[in-house]
Amino acid sequence: MEDRLQMYNTLTRNIERFVPNEPGKVAMYTCGPTVYHFAHIGNLRSYIQEDVLEKTLRYLGYDVKRVMNITDVGHLSDDGDNGEDKMVKGAQREHKTVMEIAKFYTDAFFEDCRKLNIKTPDVVEPATGCIPEFIHMIEVLLEKGYAYQAGENVYFDTSKLKEYYVLTNHSEDSLLEGVRDDVDVDPNKKNKNDFVLWFTKSKFEDQALKWDSPWGVGYPGWHIECSCISMKHLGEYMDIHCGGVDNIFPHHTNEIAQSESYLGHKWCNYWFHVNHLNDRNGKMSKSKGATLTVSVVEENGYNPLVYRMFCLQSHYRKPLEFSYEVMDQVKAAYEKLRRRLSGLAETVSACKAGEVDTEAFAQFRKQFEDALCNDLNTASALTVLYDVLKADISDATKVALTDSFDEVLSLDLTKPLPETEGSGADDELTSWIEEMIAKRTEAKKAKDFATADAIRAELLERGVAIKDTREGVVWELV
Ligand code: AMP
Ligand code: ZN
Repeated sequence: MEDRLQMYNTLTRNIERFVPNEPGKVAMYTCGPTVYHFAHIGNLRSYIQEDVLEKTLRYLGYDVKRVMNITDVGHLSDDGDNGEDKMVKGAQREHKTVMEIAKFYTDAFFEDCRKLNIKTPDVVEPATGCIPEFIHMIEVLLEKGYAYQAGENVYFDTSKLKEYYVLTNHSEDSLLEGVRDDVDVDPNKKNKNDFVLWFTKSKFEDQALKWDSPWGVGYPGWHIECSCISMKHLGEYMDIHCGGVDNIFPHHTNEIAQSESYLGHKWCNYWFHVNHLNDRNGKMSKSKGATLTVSVVEENGYNPLVYRMFCLQSHYRKPLEFSYEVMDQVKAAYEKLRRRLSGLAETVSACKAGEVDTEAFAQFRKQFEDALCNDLNTASALTVLYDVLKADISDATKVALTDSFDEVLSLDLTKPLPETEGSGADDELTSWIEEMIAKRTEAKKAKDFATADAIRAELLERGVAIKDTREGVVWELV
C-alpha cells in the first residue's frame, strides 16, 4: 500500500509523509488520563483528535495497534519530590481510597469516550499493573549509568545525554519561567531537569500505594509508566506517540530520555500533539474547580457529538476556544445534517432506491482521504461531506459515502435523532406542519396542484422543507 498520510511531527517540526517501521502496520501509543477527577472537554479534545488519527490510519488500510495507559499512581505536579500527588489529593478530597478513586474515574472516562464515539484503544493498561516492568527499566538505567540514587529516591541523570531538549527549541531559562514557575527546588537533584524514576522517601507519608523494590518500599514516577507500558505491548520500536501539547515538556521529553537510554537506539519516529482547548479565561484545568465536562455539556442541552463536531471543524494543531455561542451554531448545523442524512438513509433503505454509483463513490472517497492526508484536515473532510450532499448523484451513493466517512468522523450521521432531540420544532409547530401536510395530500388527491404547491411554498416560508417519498411525506426544518 502507498503511504499517503502527511502529518506534522513534533520531533522534526515538519509536516512529513508518515512511513511506518513495518509496511502497512502501525504501532501507536496514547498517554491516557490521570484518573483523579472527571476528564474535562479539553482532555477529550485530545482524545477525539487521536481517535480521528487512529481511524484515518485504519481507513487508509493500515493495521493499527493502539495502546493507552491509565495513570493511577505517581502523577506528581513536579518531577522532583516536592509536587502534589494528584491521585492522593483526589482520594483525600472524596474520602475514598486511591483505588476507589481510580476505578470510579476510569469508568467515567470511558463513559465519556463512549458518548463521544471515541474507540477504546486495543490495549488499556493501568500503571499499577506494570510495577515489575518499571523496576526492571530503572535497574537497567542505573546499571548503564543514566540514573542515580539520592535522598532515598532514584533519579534520571539528564546530564548523561547528548541532547535532552529533542522535542522543543526552548532554552532552559524560558522553560523555567514558562512551565515550571510553581516548582520548588528538590535538593537531591544533581541537575535541574533530572526527574524521579522511583520514590522511596516522600513527603507523602500517607501515600497509599507502595511496592517493594531494590531501593526500598516506594512507588514509581510518572514518566516511567508510558515508556514501559508502550514497550510491553508494542516492542522496542514505535511509530506514533500522541498526547496534548502540555505533554511535550517535561513528560514526553523525559519519556524519550529514559527510553532511548534504556534501549540504546531511537524509540519512536512520529510525535503527534493536539493543541489545547481553552475557555475564555485560558487553559482548562481538572484541578481548577468548576470543570467543563461532558455531563455539563449534556445538561446544557447538547448531544456530546455536537462537541465532537465542534472539534472536527478546527485544526488539531491550533488552539481552540470553547464557547456556547459557537456550540449553538454547530448544534444547528449538526442537527440539520443528521436529520437530512438519516432521512435519506431511511428513504434509501425503505425504497431500495437507486444504485450506488461506484465511480462517484471512489472519487468522493479519494477527496475525503486527501483532506485527512493533509495533516488531518477534518474541516476540509467535512466540506467533502457537504459536497456529496449537493452533488448530482443518487441518494444511495450519498448514503453509502456518508456511512463510509462516518467510520472516521463518527458523528452517527445516518442514525435518526432521538425523539427528544433535534426536530427543532415545538408541539404547536409540529401539529401545524402535520395539518398542512394533510391538507396538501388532500389537494393532490383532488388534483388541485395549485393548492398543493401553495401549501409547500407556505411551509417553506416558515422554514419547513417537505419531500414526497414512497413511505409518505417527510419534512425537516431548514
Ligand atoms: P491528564 O489526564 O491531565 O494526564 O491529561 C489527559 C490528556 O489531555 C493529555 O494528553 C493532556 O495533554 C491533554 N490535555 C490536558 N489539558 C488539555 C486541554 N486544555 N486541551 C486539550 N488537551 C488537553
Ligand atoms: Zn505518557
